[in-house]
Parts: sequence; C-alpha cells; structure tokens
Amino acid sequence: VLTVSHLKKTFGENIVLKDIDFFANEKDVVSIIGASGSGKSTLLRCINQLEKPTSGDILFHDKNIQDSGFSLSNYRAKVGMVFQSFNLFNNLSVLQNCVVGQMKVLGRDRKEAEQRAMDILSKVGMDQYISAKPRQISGGQKQRVAIARALAMDPEILLFDEPTSALDPEMVGEVLNVMTSLAKTGLTMLVVTHEMDFARDVSNRIIFMDAGVILEDSTPEEIFNHPKNERTRMFLNRSI
Ligand code: ATP
Ligand code: MG
Repeated sequence: VLTVSHLKKTFGENIVLKDIDFFANEKDVVSIIGASGSGKSTLLRCINQLEKPTSGDILFHDKNIQDSGFSLSNYRAKVGMVFQSFNLFNNLSVLQNCVVGQMKVLGRDRKEAEQRAMDILSKVGMDQYISAKPRQISGGQKQRVAIARALAMDPEILLFDEPTSALDPEMVGEVLNVMTSLAKTGLTMLVVTHEMDFARDVSNRIIFMDAGVILEDSTPEEIFNHPKNERTRMFLNRSI
C-alpha cells in the first residue's frame, strides 16, 4: 500500500533522512526502532505529510501523494496518526473527540458518527467514559481514546509515534494490549517504539534506523537473533 523511495529530509544544514527506501504491504505491522535523533518521527511525519520531504517520492496505492491532483485530506483520513502526547481536543468529551473528524472530513452525519465512535470506544474499553473530558481520565485512557479517534476514520494505515512513551509504567500495558488486538485485525501499522517486547512479539517486520538511514529491515527473528549490523547489535544490547 505504501512505498517510500529516495526520501530525503533536511532541516537547514541538518540532513535528517538520507535516501530512505521503505515499503509497507497490507496488514504489515512494522516496528521502527533506533536511537533518539535517528529520524524515526521525521519519517512518520513525512509519510503523513506533516513534514514536506526535501526530495523523494511517497506512493500510496501507486499514486504519488505529492502530485498536484492528489487529495491530501482524503489521504490523511486513510493514514491516521497516534502521537506520544495524545493530542486530544481538551475542550471536547471523549465521544466528541471521536466524532468531529468523521463529520468534518468524511461527511458523516452526527448520528452515524456517534454510532461508529461508540462502537470503537467500547472496543478499546472506553465506552464508560464517553462524557468525560480528557483532563478527567488517565494517560493510558487518553491514549486509548486517541487510538479510537484514529480508528473511527476507518484508516488503511495507522502510524504510531511512541504511543506509550509518555505513560506511567502501569498504563503501558493497556495501550499495548489495544495495539496488539488491532494488529490481529489486519490493520496496517507503522509503530515507532522503544517497547522491544512489542516489536519482537507483535510486529512482522522491524526497521532499525540510525542517523537518517535504514540500517536493517527484517523479521523480528532476524533482527533479534542475527542482526546483520554491529550498530543494531549495540542498540539492542542497550535496550534489553
Ligand atoms: P526520538 O527517539 O528522540 O523521538 P527521532 O528518531 O524521532 O528521535 P526525529 O524527531 O525524527 O528523531 O529528529 C531527527 C533530527 O531532526 C533531530 O536532529 C532533530 O533535532 C531534527 N528535527 C526534527 N524536527 C525538526 C524541525 N521541525 N526543525 C528542525 N530540526 C528538526
Ligand atoms: Mg521521535
């Protein structure tokens, strides 16, 4: 579904992504690992066009997302994103957080959008909190709402940027559980994470990024048991 080729991104003098080639097939669950500053977030942000690539191509179903005829709002609905810091609308209830995008972007009427939101909120175990405001729920609950909000848009791909890094340790599990069950539904997922158990047990591919390049793109079994690159080995030794 997604192909990235020769992607380059610079911020001033700083070359953050150097000639990245990457693809995701339908139903892939790809964990993206690597040291701080290696370019993981920038890669996700280029994929959903929060950042404009300096050069290179991103194809979604073989269509170049940078072509003038390409509908970006459509694309953003199909490629959802979940952030470390939740980014919920603080003035809206849990339910309305999951409703507004459906109405604005997908043109659903309120009743249909609320139905869909309720459905998904119950899947992530948050249907009891539909009237709560974000400040009234825990970090783990906020992240489950953020995931529900993304899912309500019926995405084809969901991007996660360190979804558990801002959480207290006791809340990490509830979010990883939701992500694990999502992976089993066949949703295509790209997950930047430091959770090595998730990377090993849930994803079917792992990408190791180092200083703006993809040093390894392989199965969890290969990466953990037979890393090709010395830097991958060093990173994993530090992380486990
Ligand atoms: P972390 O694990 O800390 O989240 P990361 O792998 O996600 O790191 P990025 O956030 O992609 O790394 O950042 C890669 C590099 O790009 C860093 O050197 C960072 O300072 C730089 N960078 C990222 N965003 C911007 C920006 N908007 N303007 C300038 N430089 C940026
Ligand atoms: Mg990051």
